[in-house]
Amino acid sequence: MAYEFGCRTAGSACDWKARGATEEEVLAKVAEHARRKHKVQAATDTLVSYLRSTLRQS
Ligand SMILES: [Zn+2]
Repeated sequence: MAYEFGCRTAGSACDWKARGATEEEVLAKVAEHARRKHKVQAATDTLVSYLRSTLRQS
């Protein structure tokens, strides 16, 4: 069982994806990617809850 997040799912034109065994693992990767590629300075509560809602279990 794994969680997957894709920037495309979030409406971005970015092909980057993250996979992890837990939500926390994926969210950590997403936060770092967002900071480096999308100039998002901090993962706010709003952003995190939004990301959680887009996470898919596969
Ligand atoms: Zn991206």
